[in-house]
Amino acid sequence: GRRADLPSAVSSSSGGRKSPPAAPRVWFVPDALGIVCASATWVLTLSQGALLLSAWLLPAQRPAYSAVHGSLSHLLASLALASHARTMFTDPGALPVGAPPAPGLAARCPLCGAVQTPGAHHCGVCQRCIRRAHHHCPWVNNCVGEDNRKFFVLFTLYTALGALHVLLLLSAPALRAYARGEWDLQTPVLLRPSLLFLFVVALNGFLFAGLMFTIQIRSILTDPQSQPGEPGQASAWTNLKAVLGPRPSPAWLSPFASAGPRAASGPQAVV
Ligand SMILES: [Zn+2]
Ligand SMILES: [Zn+2]
Repeated sequence: GRRADLPSAVSSSSGGRKSPPAAPRVWFVPDALGIVCASATWVLTLSQGALLLSAWLLPAQRPAYSAVHGSLSHLLASLALASHARTMFTDPGALPVGAPPAPGLAARCPLCGAVQTPGAHHCGVCQRCIRRAHHHCPWVNNCVGEDNRKFFVLFTLYTALGALHVLLLLSAPALRAYARGEWDLQTPVLLRPSLLFLFVVALNGFLFAGLMFTIQIRSILTDPQSQPGEPGQASAWTNLKAVLGPRPSPAWLSPFASAGPRAASGPQAVV
């Protein structure tokens, strides 16, 4: 019933040459699980920074050490959270609902009525078709698609680096003792509960974000559809530039710089 009704309703409304409805000014997916997971990501990232400062850096009573590592930890956490916000609040590439059909691309999504482009998938959580959708990630409460993929890659990168920084700081004394021969695997390790919690949070963050980053980079480098119209022709370098921006620059690493004009490609650009 519903699958058959929707496209006809949409095509009848699009007969009047009306322009497709404008994208919402602020993109936000009203999904309860996603909101809980995305909030948890912020709480965990902020607790990791606060715990590192209060339970490790300040008790060390070494001002230079605390200043350097405190600044680095806050820089990485800020970049991770800025990337997270950009991923969550950026339209991942939702196709216009009820847009007039482009020549040669008549296939419509039976669920939202969008004219589908190659690589577009309907997301049941966003309730829209997303261009070059990779997956819907509850931790950023959004789909990872063509227009926010750069921010998602940066979010996983800075989260993994921030967690690795914490892991290295916490394990450095044991590693130094091991190098001096004063420590072996039989030596009991005493960690205060706050530090144990910090270690577990950082270990999980490093494994999870590192895995997501690896999966994203692998999938970007081997994407056969990166060059419109030439599937299978795109090189790994072309694919990387398609996601991060047209030429290498520090902006590739900035969550405040968008990937560039390429993201504006609509159904017409793919023909
Ligand atoms: Zn759809
Ligand atoms: Zn989605």
